[in-house]
Amino acid sequence: MFLSEQVETLSKWFVDQRSEYPWREQPTPYRVWISEVMLQQTQVQRVVLYFSRWMEALPSIQAVAEADEDELIKLWEGLGYYSRVRNIHKAAKHIVSYHGGNMPSTEELLFKIPGLGPYTVAAIQCFGFRKRALPIDANVIRVLSRIHRFTERGDTAFGKKKMQELASYWIPEKDPHIVAEGLIEFGQKVCGKNPRCHTCPLRRHCLGKDIAETLPVKKPPKEKVYLRREVILLLCKEKVWVFKEERKGVMQGLWQFPYDFDIVSHSLLCKADLQKKGASERVRHGFTHHTVDLFPTLFFIDEEIPLPYGAWYGVDALHTLPFSSGHRTIARELFDAVSHRRDALRLLRS
Ligand code: SF4
Repeated sequence: MFLSEQVETLSKWFVDQRSEYPWREQPTPYRVWISEVMLQQTQVQRVVLYFSRWMEALPSIQAVAEADEDELIKLWEGLGYYSRVRNIHKAAKHIVSYHGGNMPSTEELLFKIPGLGPYTVAAIQCFGFRKRALPIDANVIRVLSRIHRFTERGDTAFGKKKMQELASYWIPEKDPHIVAEGLIEFGQKVCGKNPRCHTCPLRRHCLGKDIAETLPVKKPPKEKVYLRREVILLLCKEKVWVFKEERKGVMQGLWQFPYDFDIVSHSLLCKADLQKKGASERVRHGFTHHTVDLFPTLFFIDEEIPLPYGAWYGVDALHTLPFSSGHRTIARELFDAVSHRRDALRLLRS
């Protein structure tokens, strides 16, 4: 069957071409887990730096469980999709409580860990424990869809089942991690968005090479959502009003300035004896399918007034707290302005 030849070719290609990453040096289940969660939605080169910093600060699952959530979010700051790090925290506590701080190896126990989905479970089993499991990510779906000319969507229930079936033909009993990792890396380096079919070692038996750029079939993209937000920067001497987002969502656990003049903050600002006011340049950022424009306005006030939510923090907090991405830009500018004792923000052009 042509497949055994393809698997052998892919294994050879991977052994020759594999990239060296820190998590591959000592692929313990813990290191595999953290690297795989970081790699979701993030480019590999960016992950290298974050991964090394994380491992230096938190060398064990026990250390993650005992860490403060703010410390974890700070280590994650800039990677986005912060629910991932909150789930890591919950999962580490679970592993310490139920497994003495050691990652369990069976599928049944791994699925009981909060936040671990099918891909991460399979990756931990395959790369961390060297068991035969099928970690199927977007790269694997792309490679298998093209080689087997699968012309339906790979992200539906039927498509996922089909991918499992195809991957099970590829991934062998012996050294399964080589082919599993090979498929992922092959999808990154050769059979990517712009497939290199002319020099591809799997070209000979690839059934979809003539329509490679149309595969895999994807669902239509979500419509973009635009948000405009008025951001309140309220400064009192060396203190600033900030709050931690507690509501469920992508910003949960991150720090922000109050935004949108809701009734509470509006009446508060009306009552306050505001000394100076200025509007600043727009700060644009994006998350998931949202584009957000933040318009900060700066207020100075003489006395700390009681706040409806959040708290007064020293300006050092602008530097040390984990802010959501757009607010982080504003926090840096504000920190620079205040710490250099300039009268107003550099971003203020009122
Ligand atoms: S021939 Fe092209 S489509 Fe087929 S596996 Fe190689 S790069 Fe991918």
